Amino acid sequence: MTDSTSLARFREIIRASKRIVFFGGAGVSTASGIPDFRSPDGRYAAEEAGLSPEMILSKSFFYLQPEMFFDYYRKHMLFPDAKPNAAHRFLYELEKQDKLRGIVTQNIDGLHRAAGNIRVYELHGNVQDNYCMECNASYPPEVILSADGIPRCECGGVIRPNVVLYGEPLEKYVCIGARREIANADTLIVAGTSLSVEPAASFIEDFRGKHLIVINREPTPADENAELLFREDVAEVFSRLSGE
Ligand SMILES: [Zn+2]
Repeated sequence: MTDSTSLARFREIIRASKRIVFFGGAGVSTASGIPDFRSPDGRYAAEEAGLSPEMILSKSFFYLQPEMFFDYYRKHMLFPDAKPNAAHRFLYELEKQDKLRGIVTQNIDGLHRAAGNIRVYELHGNVQDNYCMECNASYPPEVILSADGIPRCECGGVIRPNVVLYGEPLEKYVCIGARREIANADTLIVAGTSLSVEPAASFIEDFRGKHLIVINREPTPADENAELLFREDVAEVFSRLSGE
């Protein structure tokens, strides 16, 4: 349970900050019913086939075994009923107040945009955006969800999600923007990530601001530099913070 002194301090920091950046991972979306695909469920399903989630969600697997890729993707990566939670809603308020300079996220669920945020750097893409690999036509995720086997465009091309697969590079302009926001932030909130995924994790080393806040159930390499540390569920902390 969050103690009231830490929450009061968190509120004070937000009040005093003008350029907050939020850096988030899977733990931001768990309260929205989106499990980390590296968590036991997703891992088990992959291991049944003698694979790991990282192997199935890789570029080479996508090209070699598209049918199996889409089967796994539909079951473990798409959550059409997921809604933004207290964390997403709080960040939207911060952006409206012009205090939040950017959200840098490792998540592909698109929930920050669904909450209304515009300044979102989606390092690994977004399942809401899908396109035909032949003619570039765009498609909603429902098309992938309802397809039997490999989703196909009217032109016959394969429709793929605009997400970064293992073995694919991150979008350069997204990385540049994310790093610039972190470097110019006065407050950085790192939440729901154990900072184990590179190169994204090293982005936070660019931070030169005053206040580093870490919210994560597990220890992270940023803990020792954190002014405030919450060992809790991300949505839970934001829910208390906003008095929801
Ligand atoms: Zn097409």
